Amino acid sequence: MRPAILNPLFADITALAGVGPKIAALINRVAGPRVVDLILTAPINVVDRSFQPKIADAPAGKILTLRARIDRHDPPPKGKRLPYKVICSDDTGFVTLVFFHARADYLQKILPEGETRLISGRVEEYKGGRQMAHPDYIVDPEAESEMPLYETVYPLTAGLTANVMRKAVGEALKRAPDLPEWQDAEYLKRRRWRDWKGSVLELHRPKTPDNIALSAPVRQRLAYDELLANQLALFLIRRARVRSRGRVIKGGGDKRAAAAKALPFAMTDAQRQALKEILDDMASGERMVRLLQGDVGSGKTIVAFFAALAAVEAGAQAAIMAPTEILARQHLESLTPFLKAAGVTMDVLTGRDKGAARQTKLDAIAAGDIDIVVGTHAVFQEDVAFKDLALVVIDEQHRFGVHQRIALTQKGPRPDLLVMTATPIPRTLALTAYGDMDVSQITEKPPGRRPVDTRAAPLSRLDEVVAAIKRATGKGDQAYWVCPLVEESDMLDLTAAEDRFESLKTVFGDRVGLIHGRMAASDKDRVMERFHRGELAVLIATTVIEVGVNAPNATIMIVEHAERFGLAQLHQLRGRVGRGEKPSSCILLYKAPLGETAEARIKVLRDTEDGFVIAEEDLRLRGAGDLLGAAQSGFPRFRLADIAAHGELLAAARDDAKMIVEKDPDLKTPRGEALRTLLYLFSRDDAVKLLSAG
Ligand code: ADP
Ligand code: MG
Repeated sequence: MRPAILNPLFADITALAGVGPKIAALINRVAGPRVVDLILTAPINVVDRSFQPKIADAPAGKILTLRARIDRHDPPPKGKRLPYKVICSDDTGFVTLVFFHARADYLQKILPEGETRLISGRVEEYKGGRQMAHPDYIVDPEAESEMPLYETVYPLTAGLTANVMRKAVGEALKRAPDLPEWQDAEYLKRRRWRDWKGSVLELHRPKTPDNIALSAPVRQRLAYDELLANQLALFLIRRARVRSRGRVIKGGGDKRAAAAKALPFAMTDAQRQALKEILDDMASGERMVRLLQGDVGSGKTIVAFFAALAAVEAGAQAAIMAPTEILARQHLESLTPFLKAAGVTMDVLTGRDKGAARQTKLDAIAAGDIDIVVGTHAVFQEDVAFKDLALVVIDEQHRFGVHQRIALTQKGPRPDLLVMTATPIPRTLALTAYGDMDVSQITEKPPGRRPVDTRAAPLSRLDEVVAAIKRATGKGDQAYWVCPLVEESDMLDLTAAEDRFESLKTVFGDRVGLIHGRMAASDKDRVMERFHRGELAVLIATTVIEVGVNAPNATIMIVEHAERFGLAQLHQLRGRVGRGEKPSSCILLYKAPLGETAEARIKVLRDTEDGFVIAEEDLRLRGAGDLLGAAQSGFPRFRLADIAAHGELLAAARDDAKMIVEKDPDLKTPRGEALRTLLYLFSRDDAVKLLSAG
């Protein structure tokens, strides 16, 4: 149960004065549905009103605050559509306040003649005099605090004004309770951080414009809270897992030996090492949750397959989850020779299996007649029962978050879990998402890979590029053509791809194919097969995933509107070529002029093919928020912490969390109790539930 002290924070924002359903919907878009979401939304800017010059010294165009006497109201003559003017002065000069469509009685009230007011806004020069149109603030000097000298600006959306948002945050702050301190007292003192409530108040009512900087102490304190909640949750999850006993899965090795004989290559040292780590985990009594990290083309599939063989040797079953149906089928196809050699049965189960055929498969899985199931999410539907599932492999591509991993491992008789990611992840970011897992890395690529010749060209040179592809495909090469990513709309993605398809048809005729996410699965297969058989010279694709395939004969990768893709994505795409004997190339077509960041990105790609270097650069160039397309990435989205800027805080939070879980695993000490509140504050209820009750 969430501590009662947090209840005011978890109320719906419509509970706040001035926030009706319409405004709530807008705020929901930029912050979230609850009061706490407003409080945890950091200002993105501060309007500085602290500059208080004399009227004669007031520069035009700059936000400032004047202290002026109201000399005279000058309403427009009746019936004239002229502005209402109010003349004010100090001992240096005059300024005219100008109001269009003004209500006289209101202005009389807020600007009484003969009195002094603080007036904030921008001054302009007009016909030799000074004027200020529609001041932002007019306050009585007695009530100076009604005007924020440093006015916060929040993320906005169409229809949501800065003032409405700021007021809503102000209302939310009124509900901020004094919370028990969850930070270590010594640490707090050393950092000179304030308590939580003091920090949020200071963040939103800054006393200096620097307060909202990522390096400001209040921001650091709050970022640390968020990171600590993240790390603590991961350590608690990890501990709960380790305590839940796993099974000892130890195969005899015969099937692996037979499959190894059929392999046309020897595993690299890195592959061998990763496999050993996995097998050791499986053979131990603890439950495995391991991340296998390896660049595109580093050969993760075969490692996972050998782990699956070990499970089969031990008399159990394994499931390998692929992100798409195409990949599931491709796994089956590419592994078939080794399956035969090892005498193991494997089948594919996807959303496409329906009716009686599906039932037959389900029966075979339940009877243990299928040793290894390769499939998509469909494998985890309720009616899919294994005879004895010992290992689950997820070829993740960032599609699962921590909570989904928890759900997966709760299915079946405590299977070991291996998660594979193809995108190298910067260490800091990996800690925030995979801190609950052990990690194996494949850091070297299979021998004989040729570097991919990477070039960038403006879209205006499209014709030349097409001509070059025509020459190359004439000699038997094949090309991928990836169409622009259109943000948040696969409908538009599709249009772009279809247009390109039509235009390339005029050059390549029926030797060009199109594949996209909205196609029926069987149509996708047909197109892929034609590409594999070499019938298609050019394959146009909409998304990264659709080309997550292995076609060694494809040597050319064209990415259209490369400036719209992230570095990691471009790296992934490029990794689809350069897999065979022939030299490969990657052409990044961009729309000129290229922005600074896009240019830096392309340079990084040209300079290196090391995925880890690329990932670090990506983090540096973009910041973690953007890095992986947050929403579907499975990576936590931080509001106050910034992984690129707060790496040092993350490391500290990690050490702290580790120590907490060692010393007070059920969070029962006074600090532990307070930390429970912290976990709830950041909605890590999943982790709290794993604590022993009472
Ligand atoms: P990824 O890590 O991207 O999933 P894959 O497992 O798809 O990489 O491997 C890419 C290609 O490299 C496959 O064709 C695979 O058969 C081949 N491969 C894997 N390991 C080796 C190796 N040790 N030596 C040579 N080729 C290998
Ligand atoms: Mg793979």
